[in-house]
Amino acid sequence: MLSFEELGLGEKSLSAIKRMGFEVPTPVQEQSIPLVLEGRDILAAAQTGTGKTAAFTLPSMDRLGHAKGGQGPLMLVITPTRELAQQIGEVAREVAVSTHHRIATVVGGLSYKPQISRLKQGCDVLIATPGRLIDLMEQKAVRLDDVQVLVLDEADRMLDMGFLPAVKRIVNATPKARQTLLFSATIDKSIMKVAGSFMNDPATVEIARRGDVASTVEHYVIRVPQSVKPDLLKAVLEEKGFYRVIVFARTRSRADSSCRRLRRAGYKVEAIHSDRSQSQRKRALDRFAEGEVNILTATDVLARGIDVDQVDYVINYDVPDQPEDYVHRIGRTGRAGSKGLAITFVTPENEGELRAIEKLIKAQIPEMKLESFDMAQAAAAAAEKSMAARSGRDPEVRKAKREMADRSQQKRSRGQGGAKKGTANGAAEASKPKQRQGRGRAKAPAAAPAPQRRQGDLRPGRSHRAEVQRARSRSRSRSR
Ligand code: AMP
Repeated sequence: MLSFEELGLGEKSLSAIKRMGFEVPTPVQEQSIPLVLEGRDILAAAQTGTGKTAAFTLPSMDRLGHAKGGQGPLMLVITPTRELAQQIGEVAREVAVSTHHRIATVVGGLSYKPQISRLKQGCDVLIATPGRLIDLMEQKAVRLDDVQVLVLDEADRMLDMGFLPAVKRIVNATPKARQTLLFSATIDKSIMKVAGSFMNDPATVEIARRGDVASTVEHYVIRVPQSVKPDLLKAVLEEKGFYRVIVFARTRSRADSSCRRLRRAGYKVEAIHSDRSQSQRKRALDRFAEGEVNILTATDVLARGIDVDQVDYVINYDVPDQPEDYVHRIGRTGRAGSKGLAITFVTPENEGELRAIEKLIKAQIPEMKLESFDMAQAAAAAAEKSMAARSGRDPEVRKAKREMADRSQQKRSRGQGGAKKGTANGAAEASKPKQRQGRGRAKAPAAAPAPQRRQGDLRPGRSHRAEVQRARSRSRSRSR
């Protein structure tokens, strides 16, 4: 393995690398950096989490000049989502501390005015999502005729999201004599077509085949009836810990409802999906990164946009619609060489989707056996609960109702000048579930009862067992 120095990077980039704390190049960096420094176009098949952002920012910015006054950009990075744009912006700003480039980021969902006035000042590197960039081009707020380096990041995702016409317009607005770097998790016929029309004799960098799963991730399936998923989720969290976990759901409302259910059970959770505003998403990600929130419930829109170090594990609460999304979801854990774990809940209806995933990744995903989580018993309890919910006897439903009543009581008290605030808050506090303690990685041995993760040894948590016992005694007393 070569060192960063041996890849041909200049002093400024090397000092940026030191600041970012990277010691050795990742494989995609080792292969791409010399090619980019040579000025070659590259077509790189690299999964997220492989270090690809630094693979294009470091060598490009190493060679890049500086635009005069209000001119630029000299380098343009197009990426599909706001989160990715912001993450790339952060890496580029870190490199720019040494190289003194001016970085601008323009993304949808934020107001135009600050972005337009930022562009007026001129920039060396512009990171943009396609839709917003087209809007700004139409408003003549940005010109792309100075672009020397064009990066198409997550190209497969951009095509999936229907950005091809926008990307074509953007590419056509840049000079023909440019360097083009295309990064894509998967390289298929449609990507090859794009590459053929946008690129000049590209060198291929292949780190991951289509469907490659990082070798650092252990992954399992648990077969479960739909109705038992909420209990199983809590059982897994109790067993495996819940310091930094991402729970993927198929829809926004399912991500929201899992979030609410886990909150009621006392976990620190945020939901993150496309219905939430940009500032809500950013805040949720920041709080997750800082450990204030331990669990994110997310949809696939964000499967590629979440870059948080050391996500302990991923739970696929729902099997993803697209087999490719499985690879992206589980790529959130086991990043940059650290160990990861992914557990997928599979209902009988999901067997076909599971087969499609296994075909894509060319491997059978082993089953995690549940020795102490009694699936049949949990299913009976879930059926009992749903009957109780229908007749208004479910303790969780009652608790949720109580919380809502407390909240409206608080609002009313505030409306009355806060005279009764203390009482209302007290009531809400009393009804709050017991706060659990997050487990920092550093503190894990003290707070986490020795993980000793035995495959198939999933013990449900106390709260879960109590719930099952309650359901059993109810059904016993009824049969008597
Ligand atoms: P990316 O694939 O660009 O999303 O990067 C994934 C993660 O890997 C980011 O958190 C980077 O900070 C980290 N990373 C990138 N390059 C290296 C490296 N050479 N050594 C260690 N971590 C790295």
